[in-house]
Amino acid sequence: MIDFSLNDNDQSKLDAIKEEGLICRKYARYYDEHEQDEIPPSELPEAADFRPSPNLAARQSDDDCGPSVMAMFYTIYRCWGDYAVRLRQPKMGGLGNAALMAAGTNEQKGRWANNFLAMAITEPGCGSDPSRLSASAVLDEETDEWILNGEKIFVTGGVRADGVVLWATLDRSAGRAGIKSFLVMKGTPGFEVAKKERKLGIRGEDTATYVFTDCRIPRDQLLGGNEEVQQKGSGGFRGAMKTFNMTRPAVAAFGIGIAEAALDFTRDELEKAGVDLDYGAGLGRRSAAAEKFLRLEALHEASKLTVLRAAWLADQGQPNNMESSVCKAHAGTAVRQITQGCIDILGPLGVSRDNLLEKWMRDCRIIDIYEGTGQIQRLIIARDLFEYTREDLN
Ligand SMILES: Cc1cc2nc3c(=O)[nH]c(=O)nc-3n(C[C@H](O)[C@H](O)[C@H](O)COP(=O)(O)OP(=O)(O)OC[C@H]3O[C@@H](n4cnc5c(N)ncnc54)[C@H](O)[C@@H]3O)c2cc1C
Repeated sequence: MIDFSLNDNDQSKLDAIKEEGLICRKYARYYDEHEQDEIPPSELPEAADFRPSPNLAARQSDDDCGPSVMAMFYTIYRCWGDYAVRLRQPKMGGLGNAALMAAGTNEQKGRWANNFLAMAITEPGCGSDPSRLSASAVLDEETDEWILNGEKIFVTGGVRADGVVLWATLDRSAGRAGIKSFLVMKGTPGFEVAKKERKLGIRGEDTATYVFTDCRIPRDQLLGGNEEVQQKGSGGFRGAMKTFNMTRPAVAAFGIGIAEAALDFTRDELEKAGVDLDYGAGLGRRSAAAEKFLRLEALHEASKLTVLRAAWLADQGQPNNMESSVCKAHAGTAVRQITQGCIDILGPLGVSRDNLLEKWMRDCRIIDIYEGTGQIQRLIIARDLFEYTREDLN
């Protein structure tokens, strides 16, 4: 039986994360309004607050709920504090770190795991279908180096990152089979951060364009090691795509945390206004505001359960490809409905910059876009349910 109830130990870990989340919130508006400003938290007045809680550091083991389920709870409550400020906390890795852990050799993990690594797949002409990417990697046999060329856009954390897991093709005509990932550190000649995006939401998290021009890296910086390049078929591509079976639930969890913050704020304001949120009230006995709020809460709970189920399957060692897409697709829509619904309920309070609700609504928009749009998740689900091939349904 699936059971997501938390024991006292797990609950106290989450309480500690929520405490840290409240600290993050103090910086949330600052980073939202200074999206191009790279002042690190250490230069802000309350920088000492950012030290990781000793309680938390000491208690990061033996989770009853399973490591992946607990990781989703941690993510939800870190984002409940603030999605972007969360990423500035010590020890937070980027998407590239997840790829390194999923597909790197032990030697590579030892060398790079302590760096913040972004992930660069998307290009001006390729997003949803990475098999069409054109960034190239050519092996120079004489120097034993890869020569990388190409442009990557919308790289999350790309300005702040120490390095990147870059997807490039050895042979465009081979499609997916030609795609490999490479570890490229900042400071490597030919690797340029060309642009910082200005965005609607998650403005505290930078997003960059990278340009690679005859960028040379040692041969052993191919993710998965040199034998990876010998592989026939699409092993390398599939290996890298597996990264997303765990990061899609994490992206959904980002949104669930933000939406939970919006609901908590709205509940407090409704209670202050004397609105009765009586869950047991019979039909027709609730105010319109209470009725709407309870529906949003139910939507949130349903979405959260899909995330926990995908993570639970991972903890059981069971495939979770479809469930990862289900939770990402569901959350992508639900968190938008929830944050907008909270603004519907609160009106001016919801749009005022004195509160974070309008920011949470903007921050949630990305959940249905990156790491596979909602449409792409629905394609994956349909293929899985009806056993369609990629050729049958694309
Ligand atoms: C803030 C932000 C951060 C990002 N971070 C990263 C990052 O760190 N690394 C990275 O590599 N990328 C990143 N991305 C890029 C993101 O993953 C892509 O934007 C996304 O995958 C969609 O690709 P695209 O923009 O090229 O859209 P397209 O693929 O051109 O799609 C456009 C529209 O068509 C729809 N569509 C496409 N194909 C189909 C289909 N077969 N059936 C039905 N509908 C379809 C899509 O759902 C979408 O609505 C980021 C994007 C943003 C906005």
